[in-house]
Amino acid sequence: MEDNSIYQKTVRKDVTIEGVGLHSGKPAKLVIKPALPNAGIIFVRTDLEKPVTIPASYEFVTQTKLATTIGRDQAKISTVEHLLCALKLMQIDNAMIEVSGPEVPIMDGSAAPFCKAIALAGVREEVSALRKVAILRKRIEVRKGDKIALIEPSTRFHINARIEWNHPAIGTQSFEYTVGETDYQEVASARTFGFMKDVEALKKMGLALGGSFDNAVVMDEEKVLNLEGLRYADEFVRHKVLDAIGDFALSPVQVMGDVTLVKAGHEMHSELIHAIFSNPDNFEVVTIEEAIIEEESLGVLETNWAAVLQRTY
Ligand SMILES: [Zn+2]
Repeated sequence: MEDNSIYQKTVRKDVTIEGVGLHSGKPAKLVIKPALPNAGIIFVRTDLEKPVTIPASYEFVTQTKLATTIGRDQAKISTVEHLLCALKLMQIDNAMIEVSGPEVPIMDGSAAPFCKAIALAGVREEVSALRKVAILRKRIEVRKGDKIALIEPSTRFHINARIEWNHPAIGTQSFEYTVGETDYQEVASARTFGFMKDVEALKKMGLALGGSFDNAVVMDEEKVLNLEGLRYADEFVRHKVLDAIGDFALSPVQVMGDVTLVKAGHEMHSELIHAIFSNPDNFEVVTIEEAIIEEESLGVLETNWAAVLQRTY
């Protein structure tokens, strides 16, 4: 996006998106609606007898296998991460998202169709509401075997992801993304990926029924099977960054920090966000005004907080 505002944003008008659910294979529809300042991102299951609202917050994450699922009471919505990534890439802070079933449509397996639809509808800036950020106070790390997810205090939101797959089409890949600096199109079109044998096993279990070459990069033991090939040479790690941006959108407020991810996925992202926000000593939420006061009191004159906030979105 061209302008990196210090003000909160929402969509200018309703954005309707239709596709299929990855797991059900059935039609899935969502409508992104404008919302008031400080509302955040709120999902609503509109197909239930009594609509259930589920805030896009780490506290409502119920499942992190294959995709990120949020839920409340008996209602759930799965595969929220690509849509949340698109909202972040398009700088949407507040929106009401009506979903017609338990899944966000998978579209082409990336964030690009959502970005395109939001860009078409347009974005509205709320000049009465400043954005907020969480300033990180310490380094926080989550480790599981050889998987690492960590965040260090910084004046930007930056992700450095690395994956290692013992597969000829993937191997070792790394990619760095800085919000406000890296062009969003560097990650928006990176598709989710999987292996033919897993897809077949999932289908036998009644899962991934909507999965096809139209919404994932699919590989056999040696190569990519999609006729059109890859969209980026390192599409796999770029999709991991896309997932991380989406999962980090489940933070109660945008955190400023340098994130390092090694062989991480939804579960590690979710655990890191929990680790950050479960302890109030780890962070401080500030608006731009408070950030400027803090800058003066600390004498950190070289820090331009206005620029910092702009970089964070
Ligand atoms: Zn994904």
